[in-house]
Amino acid sequence: MAVYSYLISTLVAVVSYVVYQKYSNVYTSFVSKPEKRYDYIIVGAGTAGCVLAARLSEDPNLKVLLLEAGDHMSYFTKIPLVSTAAQQGNNDWSVHATSQKYSSFGLHNQVPIIPRGKGPGGSSQINFLLHGFGLPEDFNRWSRLGFKGWTLEDLKPYFLKAFGTVKSEFDSDFCPPKGFCSEAPMKLKLIDEENEMMKVFKQASSSIADKHTLFRKATANVRDGNRFQTFDAYLKPALRRPNLHVLLKTQAISVRFVNKKAASLYILQDHRNLDNIFVKREIIVSAGAVKTPQLMILSGIGPRNLIKRLRIDVISENERVGRNLHDHMNMPLYVSIKKPIGITLAKVFSVSTLVNYFWYKTGYLAFPPVAGLEYRNTSALMLFSMGSASERLLRDLSNYKSKVFRETFPFHNDTSKEGFMFLATCVRPKSRGTVTLKDSSTTVPVVVDPNYLHRDYDVKCMIKAIRRAERLLSTKPFQDIGARIHWPRPERCLTFWNYTKLDQMGLVRRRKKGKKQLSKPIKEVPKPKPKVHSPPDVYLECLLREVAVTGHHAAGTCAGGQVVDSELRVKDVQGLRIMDASVFPSPISLYPNSVIVAMAEKAADLIRNSPLVT
Ligand SMILES: Cc1cc2nc3c(=O)[nH]c(=O)nc-3n(C[C@H](O)[C@H](O)[C@H](O)COP(=O)(O)OP(=O)(O)OC[C@H]3O[C@@H](n4cnc5c(N)ncnc54)[C@H](O)[C@@H]3O)c2cc1C
Repeated sequence: MAVYSYLISTLVAVVSYVVYQKYSNVYTSFVSKPEKRYDYIIVGAGTAGCVLAARLSEDPNLKVLLLEAGDHMSYFTKIPLVSTAAQQGNNDWSVHATSQKYSSFGLHNQVPIIPRGKGPGGSSQINFLLHGFGLPEDFNRWSRLGFKGWTLEDLKPYFLKAFGTVKSEFDSDFCPPKGFCSEAPMKLKLIDEENEMMKVFKQASSSIADKHTLFRKATANVRDGNRFQTFDAYLKPALRRPNLHVLLKTQAISVRFVNKKAASLYILQDHRNLDNIFVKREIIVSAGAVKTPQLMILSGIGPRNLIKRLRIDVISENERVGRNLHDHMNMPLYVSIKKPIGITLAKVFSVSTLVNYFWYKTGYLAFPPVAGLEYRNTSALMLFSMGSASERLLRDLSNYKSKVFRETFPFHNDTSKEGFMFLATCVRPKSRGTVTLKDSSTTVPVVVDPNYLHRDYDVKCMIKAIRRAERLLSTKPFQDIGARIHWPRPERCLTFWNYTKLDQMGLVRRRKKGKKQLSKPIKEVPKPKPKVHSPPDVYLECLLREVAVTGHHAAGTCAGGQVVDSELRVKDVQGLRIMDASVFPSPISLYPNSVIVAMAEKAADLIRNSPLVT
């Protein structure tokens, strides 16, 4: 039966892929040769780039060029549950960070791998699809850091324009047919109200909630069971406009300035054809938090010594380019359960799951595997409903050493084991890293150092999230489903706490041999309650530094207020803006994608309303 399931799923996937490649990728805006001059050039067709290209090309009198380094994305990126399938393939830059000093001891060479989307849709086309608008304080902090005009109040009209709502929990299916929200390009799907894992998590959270607790059911960028991000919502409907050109497999190399005004852009097509495209109005860089600072530095904007070392002419000195890199970290905690309400690989690879998805667009494949999120002050927990983590699928994606992976996910190769993962995180981490270059060639990878867990604050904040997980698991709703945490036991940490493999597996030690057994018990002895193991903080700190991995939210490397002004114009030059995750002055409390969509909407307005600089 299992073999048939695998065969059928492979067949359906291959057929769908062929149909998709043949019929869906034909749009007149995809060109192979650009014109010599455009009004606007946008670099990067990611979350932000797709919004900008669609909005700026609404005016038929303006010619817009959108450049994207990657090629068309694979069909599998459409299926919400299997977004990780795209990682480390052609659609992922798969950024290998530098060896970390304070974290990542459980990874080979202490090197975290940071996925970044490559192709139309960018990272939003390979991400976990989770929607949220952060917390009001996130935006107030931006204001305090000198990035004015981007508070929650300022962004609300754009949340509404893009999503038809200002809520982080929302379902677009409930928009009335001619209602305001049904006009919004982005569509949201709220997790099924009957999802048992979500209900247990929510009940547990509310049973111990106080004024610092905020629970959110998972909401995803999903429409009719498919990924629905800015590529589908914005770019696709614009791809037949004659004034919009999209060049794939084309990398922006550097901006050329005349009297400090962006005049043209050097591009490299198919890794071999170099060209120079002129711009009348503006170049807008949306290449993401890793590649945007690279383009700035290659264009002569950034730290003077670095630019000089790379033998590039300095156009504008700015020490802040490539600084302030921030990212969330996730600490996975495996929890086994007795009630079969999780998502197991065995359930996913079943005929009924495939029929449900390909015929009815429902079921496990139609939604990301996340049940919800609980914030408590600046610590948070996400519940990832998938317990059986296949070693073959997941270990190499994160670069875990085999032993550490196995000690973290104790039932790693059991595809039917019921369980879930708590992902413990700190929503406003204080550690800051860097993006820099060691060579001026775009073929040499960018040097990315996220500097995870440099600040003790982040460790303490994440420990609070882990303690919260312990507390939640002790509540009745979780106890009723037989929830039991299995602490990771990496070798390096075991000196801090005596936690054996048997403890981890929940097995009781056998009696020592040689002890005389009584043939008949004199009295019925009650079964001992399973021991509750609670590690000391020092063990948890060791775990974090060993096992925690990227939360996928890299941002901040061309910060608003420091590298760009409040209208996203690169300081000290003209005709150049940045709009992507790199302008975040500080982290958003978890999911950044929807915030970037709304910011790009606002950016489009700012650009359209700007006078032409000659
Ligand atoms: C695995 C993963 C899971 C995530 N999960 C979530 C989630 O559930 N919820 C959430 O809110 N966020 C999530 N994120 C984060 C979110 O997707 C990103 O923050 C967001 O997509 C960033 O958008 P952007 O516009 O800044 O850059 P991107 O979307 O990364 O776009 C940049 C684009 O520029 C292109 N490019 C780069 N350099 C050049 C160049 N020189 N020339 C031409 N093109 C170039 C790239 O190929 C890419 O297409 C996740 C990210 C990942 C990778």
